[in-house]
Amino acid sequence: MTAPLTATRPTPLLELNGVRKSYNVGLPNEAEVLHGLSFSIGRGEFAALIGPSGSGKSTLLNIVGLLERMTAGSYRIDGEEVHGLDDAALTRRRRTTLGFVFQFHHLLPAFSALENVTLPALMREDRITPAQRDRARAVLAAVGLADAMDKRPGELSGGMQQRVAIARALVLEPPLVLADEPTGNLDTASSDEVFALMRRMHAELNTSFLVVTHDPRLAARCDRVLELVDGRLVADGTPPPPSDKRVLGPA
Ligand code: ADP
Repeated sequence: MTAPLTATRPTPLLELNGVRKSYNVGLPNEAEVLHGLSFSIGRGEFAALIGPSGSGKSTLLNIVGLLERMTAGSYRIDGEEVHGLDDAALTRRRRTTLGFVFQFHHLLPAFSALENVTLPALMREDRITPAQRDRARAVLAAVGLADAMDKRPGELSGGMQQRVAIARALVLEPPLVLADEPTGNLDTASSDEVFALMRRMHAELNTSFLVVTHDPRLAARCDRVLELVDGRLVADGTPPPPSDKRVLGPA
């Protein structure tokens, strides 16, 4: 027997093929906002999603996050087609595969940082075991909040709140974290710190990240940049190197 000429490619974590999304289907104001997107994301990739306002980034992130349904196309997670699954199956998939970090952290204000980070376990399994509480403590310590676990969000700075949100997204070790402008609400120093933390968690846990950002500085620090314009993918590659001031000529 001769060996196959091509090696088998590993199944991508996510694979989108011809994904379309229309709003107001069947109404006079029906509009297609994603026009047949195809791309895949492998395990351990750290990708940015950029594009002008209105280009469809949030819509795409919501579809990838199983929060919104596509109109047509195929979306496989770990090889399993999710287009057409019922709500219960989508919720199960979401809870086992995905973690979310939003611009506005969406922490529950009446709960401590620790309680907020134990919530995903409660949602997934209807209870919190002592081991899960220990795990939540360990993740909060890993994001530098060992001394702030009992504080409520209102007692923490914006950067600390976002670190709690990252701990919450990572506590169940999902293979993919989706982040929508995770640093959009922070000053430059906190933004750098939160982004560095995401990169560190990525390196330690091999979690894949898809990060929507308007900030070219952050996109430049991702391994891959997907660019969306008017609902179409116009670029997909490594970010350009940081601008070289010498091209501007002598000062
Ligand atoms: P971005 O995140 O890049 O700013 P969005 O995904 O929010 O872009 O929006 C893409 C397009 O879809 C925009 O033209 C927007 O007006 C439209 N859109 C988004 N949500 C809805 C909705 N629920 N109903 C109708 N149109 C929508």
